[in-house]
Amino acid sequence: MQIVKTVAEVREAVRAWRAEGLTVGLVPTMGFLHEGHKSLIVRAVAENDRVVVSDFVNPTQFGPNEDLESYPRDLERDAALCEEAGAALVFNPEPSEMYAPDACTFVDMDALTGELCGKTRPTHFRGVCTVVSKLFNIVTPDAAYFGQKDAQQLAVIRRMVRDLNFGLRVVGCPIVREEDGLAKSSRNTYLSADERQAALCLSRAIFAGQKLVEDGERDAATVTEAMRAIIEAEPLARIDYVKMVDFDNIELIDHIADGQPVLCAIAVYIGKTRLIDNFIVE
Ligand code: AMP
Repeated sequence: MQIVKTVAEVREAVRAWRAEGLTVGLVPTMGFLHEGHKSLIVRAVAENDRVVVSDFVNPTQFGPNEDLESYPRDLERDAALCEEAGAALVFNPEPSEMYAPDACTFVDMDALTGELCGKTRPTHFRGVCTVVSKLFNIVTPDAAYFGQKDAQQLAVIRRMVRDLNFGLRVVGCPIVREEDGLAKSSRNTYLSADERQAALCLSRAIFAGQKLVEDGERDAATVTEAMRAIIEAEPLARIDYVKMVDFDNIELIDHIADGQPVLCAIAVYIGKTRLIDNFIVE
């Protein structure tokens, strides 16, 4: 497995693979990899001849008072996980390799980004769309793999690929959880022991909401209120949002219609750490 720092090296590797007629999968990440990331890489390896993992803490998707500086990094451990999962190349650029000092071109989206995380983090999806577009142009993959953990991001990327005619498949992969239910996240490392315990209110709320819908509840407010009550019972938790939206356009819904793809998403601060979780009604 190669670990490279420059766009030119990625292009060179991909050019050689293409010359052999090989297919290429891409897994974009911000590093500090865990089993959730690994599940994406394993899936990509199963479906492509060569897999590129990008490992880049993208500054443009962080807001001014967010955790860009403190975001955990460990390239050595990440590389070992990528190699074990069967990746062919890890792309770990410096920010200066990705962004010229006078870079002034961004990819933005008029819909899908005004609700949920886009409301709390107004510049986040512009950063995500821009860096993912750049990665698509650098790697030119046949398929790109994203976790349902970041469900709004998955919907945004699907829309961007459609709207901008990126010729690739977007593959969504299920959420990987800790044994006790907490969705795996690089940000879980911020949690103290007490906070780690308190963070279980997210998955408890998700499982309870999911059960209500499975048992036939169709009223969005009834489901989200029940979920709120579970989170509000946890003293260390502060709700950012608990919402139900159409999974295609990320617009709020009151009622779950038959056949409509619905996303029920939550964001909760546990102390200073903001965690997200969700379930999808197919
Ligand atoms: P990140 O490094 O947090 O930007 O995540 C990189 C990719 O891994 C994104 O597509 C995430 O949705 C995905 N991912 C992160 N955590 C999980 C998880 N627990 N289960 C599945 N996919 C995940």
